[in-house]
Amino acid sequence: MNSRIEKIRQLLSELEAETATTPKGDAGFSALELPDIIGEIVDDLQPILTAYDAAFYWFLFRHSIAKDGNPQIRVSRSSLRRAVVKSSYTNAAENNISIGKVQDTLHALEQIGAIQKLGEPNRHGTLYRVLIPDEIEACREFRAERMAEETALFPLSHKDQYQLRTQVFERDAYKCRRCEKQLTRFTATTDYVKTPTEGGADTAENLVTTCTDCNTRGEKRTS
Ligand SMILES: [Zn+2]
Repeated sequence: MNSRIEKIRQLLSELEAETATTPKGDAGFSALELPDIIGEIVDDLQPILTAYDAAFYWFLFRHSIAKDGNPQIRVSRSSLRRAVVKSSYTNAAENNISIGKVQDTLHALEQIGAIQKLGEPNRHGTLYRVLIPDEIEACREFRAERMAEETALFPLSHKDQYQLRTQVFERDAYKCRRCEKQLTRFTATTDYVKTPTEGGADTAENLVTTCTDCNTRGEKRTS
């Protein structure tokens, strides 16, 4: 284990030495933007990547934008091969993944638009620019699909829906308006007075607190 940590440490300092020679990027990111960017990577990029692609992307992101706000990073295939993932496919002594797999993965990330090659390789490696979901067309498309689905499922945002439900529960004192059972915020549900198909709206006036038994929106019951 210690030798593995030592190897990683050595590798990181090699990578740092390599990136020190990298020119400053065309776009800098501030530390304040990082939480949002990370959230977008998880929501909009990770789902469209394979596990390998994602591991490589996170590594490149961590050593570029997340390190100093500079989206450019120079990497050599041989260092990536040692750094990013431990292969479960080979029994090779160091359990590295092959150079070919590294190449394929970088190529896949380029195809998706998650990274962009900025020049031809030199003896320190190849210069790449790491892109964030806002800059990646495939991510913007995926986000649009995701948002459309979420809007269909929840016409209100999660936060608005939560606030509306709470408002209805408090008005009804957490009691089922149909059977008068006392409920809690964990057992209470809301039901429409007039369903959306009858023209009912998502408003407090059109919602009542119900227990799950009295809630007619639940799955059809046989009893
Ligand atoms: Zn009830």
